[in-house]
Amino acid sequence: MSPLVPLRHDLAALEGYHSPQVAAAVRLNTNESPYPPPETWRDDLAAEIERIDFHRYPDRTAAALHDGLAAFHGVTPDEVFCANGSNEVLLCLQLAFGGPGRRALLFEPTYALHSHLARLAGTEVVAGGRTADFHIDPDEADRLMAEARPELTFVCSPNNPTGGAEPPQLVARLADTAPGLVVVDEAYGQFAPSSALDLRGSGEGGRRGLVVVRTFSKTWAMAACRLGYLVADPEVVAGCRAASLPYHLSAVSQAAGVLALRYRREMEARVAAVAEERGRLSAALADLDVEWWPSDANFILFRPTGREARGVWDDLLAAGVLVRDCSSWEGLLGCLRVTVGTAKENDRFLQALRGSLGG
Ligand code: PMP
Repeated sequence: MSPLVPLRHDLAALEGYHSPQVAAAVRLNTNESPYPPPETWRDDLAAEIERIDFHRYPDRTAAALHDGLAAFHGVTPDEVFCANGSNEVLLCLQLAFGGPGRRALLFEPTYALHSHLARLAGTEVVAGGRTADFHIDPDEADRLMAEARPELTFVCSPNNPTGGAEPPQLVARLADTAPGLVVVDEAYGQFAPSSALDLRGSGEGGRRGLVVVRTFSKTWAMAACRLGYLVADPEVVAGCRAASLPYHLSAVSQAAGVLALRYRREMEARVAAVAEERGRLSAALADLDVEWWPSDANFILFRPTGREARGVWDDLLAAGVLVRDCSSWEGLLGCLRVTVGTAKENDRFLQALRGSLGG
């Protein structure tokens, strides 16, 4: 059948970004928190939902959420912009500061949505590479920034799917030399030893072009809520607000985010538990026939050395364990990525992996 209207030609060429939602007993493919938020948070939210006027639009400015996040990070509310997941934050940045005639610099392999959203917005993508251990090479970054003069430079730290965080010196150097905004995607920021939030500074000496993106989907254990935000200069925030739809954040999402911030200690405990399991998983991988990369996040990239990755992925799934197959992604030949789960889930993954590699 011929299409009603042909799809925009630049979208027709784009591939979607989807992890297959295959049914599996142990799902270690999308880097969610293996632990749910506290029961009392659920109770708080249920009580709050009772109070929502569902026939009315929500607070368009999401003031309580912005105030809460500003207090949480020690910034002012006009330095915070929230949206439906950090993906929507990234899209708003593209719509506000990218677009036709503008460029976004990124370093592959990295989070696939950075280039996808750029192309969606009509921003030209300039893709640099990474060092052998998947970090950003500062000289390569300097060269590309001088050559392409990008309006937006993306740094994913820790980088998905390779796991390493960039050292703060590198991020500071990029922010100091970039001709435009430097967007540091810290979706996994709380798992890492440092944050670009500490590099922003204030006043004259502040790095005004440094934008830090975070999410409630991972460490806050709220992927179902679709809530993310950025911390940036008020001018950047105003740009994102201009690019977002009116009333884009539902009253339920707003309430969920406000209430979550009361449970910081529980969030930090989840992060510590995951970090401990990450250490145990890494040590176990070191004894197997795989190459693996040290992670500052809640997932580990590894490459089976004696077997084809797809066969290992199939074996794991047959054993009830779903991991991410990155083996066909550019620069990640033969690689798989496993999310750190609960101790029980990780044991099941390791047992299945040993079975696959030995078989
Ligand atoms: N950034 C990175 C690096 C991610 O890995 C993800 C989720 N996979 C996101 C952003 C988007 O997360 P969300 O939209 O759920 O906030």
